[in-house]
Amino acid sequence: MPKKPSFDIPGEGFDPAKTSDLPGGRLNPSAFRRNALNGMDAVRVLAQKIKSGDIVALSKGITLIESNKDTDRPLSRELISLCLNEKETSVRIGISGSPGVGKSTFIESLGQALVEQNKKLAVLAIDPTSSLTGGSILGDKTRMINLSTHPNAYIRPTPAGKMLGGVARYTREAIILCEAAGYDVILIETVGVGQSETIVESMVDLFVLLILPGAGDDLQGIKRGVVEMADLLVVNKADGERINLANQAKASYTHALHLFPPKESGSLVEVCTCSSVESTGIIEIWQRVLKLLETHHSNGYFTKRRNAQLLHWFEETIRNNLFDLFNNNQVIKEEISMQENAILSHKLSPFDAAESLLKRFIEELRKN
Ligand code: GDP
Repeated sequence: MPKKPSFDIPGEGFDPAKTSDLPGGRLNPSAFRRNALNGMDAVRVLAQKIKSGDIVALSKGITLIESNKDTDRPLSRELISLCLNEKETSVRIGISGSPGVGKSTFIESLGQALVEQNKKLAVLAIDPTSSLTGGSILGDKTRMINLSTHPNAYIRPTPAGKMLGGVARYTREAIILCEAAGYDVILIETVGVGQSETIVESMVDLFVLLILPGAGDDLQGIKRGVVEMADLLVVNKADGERINLANQAKASYTHALHLFPPKESGSLVEVCTCSSVESTGIIEIWQRVLKLLETHHSNGYFTKRRNAQLLHWFEETIRNNLFDLFNNNQVIKEEISMQENAILSHKLSPFDAAESLLKRFIEELRKN
């Protein structure tokens, strides 16, 4: 009899000691193992619990979608399809900026304001540094301590040791689970290095870029492409002696943004200032976000962007799955190094080699 697929509830990547997995309390891993659920029935129960707002179930669900086990993929696909919500009433906001600009502090401050308004807030992170170096800029420090213990907030760090592309997929799926659990605001935090912004932009409704008072983006190490992606620029740390510098930065960025091509959304990119430590300007930023979203709803851009993202993820999944199928094919595994040698010894062009290997792959598929 084939072995029934199973997932162990604490699972890989699940740290029961993390209060971010369960605000206000700790999990008892052995109790969870005793209650471990198996197979599709368990997934249905898990989906129901997630939809009822059970935060532990949400963590279990995200751990399942992060799992690399082949046997877990059908389960996580089922979980996602059970949690898909046609109404999609949440807002998804990307928050980016160089390390040290104040992303965590900003999210903590904005998050406090939102949970006090009875909003349910989920914070997810995409950290390219964790997949490149094994270390993590976003995950290493103690972050958002007050917010993480609030019952209306759910904070999930980037899964450690995963490739950026993989993290992108998990995050995209984690958004679906968080929305099913009733979170109305989803913040996706990322480090401003370029590659991860493109990924975040493909899953959010608005992209907010945090900058420092004073220096221009060339001096802040922000790539022009990242500034172009932003729907809203926020000069953080506008407090104490930096207030003048912050206002100067606001003026110079506002001027510079006029030189950028108009955005597809039809909205002008505005520049705001705030102090995350003093919580000044934060509510105004949120009001600006809501205003932008309202405009994008009424001019149709909101739906257009979400639809484009759905099709992007459809294509991306086909591309990745085909690539995996190709790379995992035994014959291809055997022949690929021959083709590489032929290319490097100038016997074959990369194009001809690719063509012949693809033909070989199609033959293999036909045989099976
Ligand atoms: P991240 O790496 O972008 O997440 O930055 P953090 O939120 O960890 O903040 C980096 C440092 O900047 C910390 O020491 C914060 O206390 C400080 N910081 C963050 N926001 C502000 C702010 O609005 N004003 C001031 N003065 N310091 C801030």
